[in-house]
Amino acid sequence: MTHSIDIRTSRRSEFVDITGKIKKIIRDSGVAEGICHIFTPHTTAGLTINENADPSVRKDILNVLNCLVPQGGDYEHSEGNSDAHIKSSLVGAEKTVFIKGGQLKLGTWQGIFFCEFDGPRTREVWIKCIENRGS
Ligand code: ZN
Repeated sequence: MTHSIDIRTSRRSEFVDITGKIKKIIRDSGVAEGICHIFTPHTTAGLTINENADPSVRKDILNVLNCLVPQGGDYEHSEGNSDAHIKSSLVGAEKTVFIKGGQLKLGTWQGIFFCEFDGPRTREVWIKCIENRGS
């Protein structure tokens, strides 16, 4: 079964911590040992895993992405959101994480973030938990 979560973003670009939502889906899935695939079906958004203890880390990452890929750059795409498409490709649209003992396994300081690059909008993230049947 694939789960879907809706994310309502409130700014043009922001990182939304979805770690708690992923943990809940993993708990509800009943998967004890396995993997969890997380995917977002958008061309101007993405997913990343990074520090969730100090929120300034998220800000720094967004600031650097905005410097590397400015909104008003010289782009061919006529929608005015080329920077968002490029940032989406840079961070990627999917992540895979481990499930152990029925729990999401992340590093101590890690969190999972939905990356909005062309908001505010309502976005989707799809999640599939798979039990490891091998040894
Ligand atoms: Zn576009």
